[in-house]
Amino acid sequence: MGGGVTGAVVDQPPIAGPVDSVELTAHPLQRIGAFALAALADVQSPAAVSGERLVAVADWMTDHVVDAATGPDTKTPAGFWLKCSLSLFPNSPMNHPSNGKKPQRVVADAVRRWRGRPKQEQNPHVPCTLCGRPAAGFYGKMDVPLAESDLYRNSTPRHHHGMALCWPCLCCFHALPYGSQLTGGPAVVLHSWDEAFLSWTVAEQVDRNRREILVGRGLPRQPPSHEVLALRALRGYHDELNAGVELLVYSNNNRGPALDVHVMDQPLAEWLRRTSQAPVTRAGFTILLRAHKGRNRPGVVNVSRNAFREPGRIVSTAGAWLGRAACVGRLPAGTSELVKLCMSYVDEVMGMNQEDLAEIRVTADRVGQLLGEGTAGQFNKFYVTFRKLRFPR
Ligand SMILES: [Zn+2]
Repeated sequence: MGGGVTGAVVDQPPIAGPVDSVELTAHPLQRIGAFALAALADVQSPAAVSGERLVAVADWMTDHVVDAATGPDTKTPAGFWLKCSLSLFPNSPMNHPSNGKKPQRVVADAVRRWRGRPKQEQNPHVPCTLCGRPAAGFYGKMDVPLAESDLYRNSTPRHHHGMALCWPCLCCFHALPYGSQLTGGPAVVLHSWDEAFLSWTVAEQVDRNRREILVGRGLPRQPPSHEVLALRALRGYHDELNAGVELLVYSNNNRGPALDVHVMDQPLAEWLRRTSQAPVTRAGFTILLRAHKGRNRPGVVNVSRNAFREPGRIVSTAGAWLGRAACVGRLPAGTSELVKLCMSYVDEVMGMNQEDLAEIRVTADRVGQLLGEGTAGQFNKFYVTFRKLRFPR
């Protein structure tokens, strides 16, 4: 970071005083970190992480980082954090190239200075960029994932102090990895403006990270694809979703900084959550997964990818699969459940006009009757003529 004064804060009135509680802001990664702090502190709400409790959680996270930085190698549970740190906290004292040659005490001191709460006399007298309360300092990529792509240099420009953050907001960014699926490369995390869902899904991820990493089970050899992680989260949630979900894939690594955002709107997110759970629709959902099975890819991967990238393909893929099965005269068990499921998609996700929907049903029934009177060859001819549907990869 260079010297000088950040233009954005020149006109701010001087403010002072310690800030001791976590607040939710409009920054998705800060919000995820806030709920991760709540999960680590074993409380329901980020606002309950305050005072001594916030200090205790921050100290706990610092201990993990010190253990990782001074541990024997990256194969130990603590070492996993060291490996991930290049994607999360690059250029930090925990992964400095010379650490291996320094005494452990020196490395530990450097890490604790980095992670420790700034002293009051360092108060920069500017508000936190995210919550507006007094900032504790200016922070760059060593603490906060900044970049959206390689095109942006992912570093604090010369003569710019970085992002002004209060200490609780800074702690949220330090807690972000606990709420993320860690891969050793880019981390994956779900965000939603439905705070009940966000609280639940982050707490689940914190639990998994505790089990899989902190107690020594290590990284899953082949983590599920990003989209499957999202679908799994939706399927595990038992309350109605009141907002869409965003799948965030981020890396703060010096070599490939990135932040990819995939959005799923509320109607589709809620439809996936509900239909994959309710007994009456689960049978259809199972067939939907079969219909999406590709040559080299399980159905759940294709459904998840379609849900985030091309939602319309969910129904068209099911239709194409049924068409192929009908051509060879072998409609599978569960066909009617799949058709009902697809119709509920058209109704609830696409929001099709009810009169149009009724007309489609009547027409489909007539076509079905006509074809039912013919032969498989006639149906095949019909299918070949009208297929413009794409198949799963
Ligand atoms: Zn703040």
